[in-house]
Amino acid sequence: MSGSVWAIAIHGGAGPSYKDDYSAEIAGMKDVLSDAKNALMKGRNALDVVQNALRTLEDTGHFIAGRGSSPNKDGKWELDAAIMDGTNRNAGAVGALRGFKSPIDCARTVMDDSPNILLVGKGATKFLKKRDLERVTNPNRYYKPAVTKPLEVSELQHGTVGAVALDSEGRLAAATSTGGLLNKPPGRLGDTPIIGAGTWADERVAVSCTGQGEYFMRVNAASDVSARIRYTRSDLANATACVLEDISLLGGQGGLIAIDRLGRVSMPFNTISMKRGFATYRGEFEVKVF
Ligand code: ASP
Repeated sequence: MSGSVWAIAIHGGAGPSYKDDYSAEIAGMKDVLSDAKNALMKGRNALDVVQNALRTLEDTGHFIAGRGSSPNKDGKWELDAAIMDGTNRNAGAVGALRGFKSPIDCARTVMDDSPNILLVGKGATKFLKKRDLERVTNPNRYYKPAVTKPLEVSELQHGTVGAVALDSEGRLAAATSTGGLLNKPPGRLGDTPIIGAGTWADERVAVSCTGQGEYFMRVNAASDVSARIRYTRSDLANATACVLEDISLLGGQGGLIAIDRLGRVSMPFNTISMKRGFATYRGEFEVKVF
């Protein structure tokens, strides 16, 4: 499909509310959505649009991703991110990454400059430090954790960022970036960098998930949305609802955002809130938390 059909959706994490005032997050998400909208209206590539959206959200420090991430149980910052191009199902991801400002730029670099999909830990650092990517040399000074107050076990998620887009050439792309669950053990990877679990894009749909990653991995949530559309001829809303139902049945919490090739948007969640927003060629433009 080509022409003027485009759509963008973003999320800033699903979970219980931990504060009353989300105006900073909402303002940041509105800025990102209007930049993305302008880019898509100018015919920009969905892949670049989702990457740029996440780099900006990572930088704000308002989300548990990029600058706003919290350290793991050992006091170290280990971040995860993934990006996927729906036109050819090429993808790049990083896990337990230390020392880089933009995990989503690192994921894109893995996609563009390596024959691999997922690089983690020291191996990722070794590969990426030869590239022109901004480093974090003093983590204790650079990171400004978005969540500082102690949370209950049931509240250990809230702030991953994600973006999915359809561009005017009919290309779909998805990206997700996270500091992971708060108080996670060292080396823990969630669904975010696992292609098919937390992030997915193909010729049918682009999906980015947020919530308790262990459940999203068990359900293979993101690519299951596409499988349901393909095999059961479900529409987007049905497919995303069924995937979220599987997560709920296992006892998991979270949400996801998805866009299909017709520019339809679905953003279900089973938590109290999910910071989310979307804009489309139909003139829709909205950011919501609850
Ligand atoms: N899904 C992420 C993870 O499990 C966390 C989140 O979305 O808040 O690492």
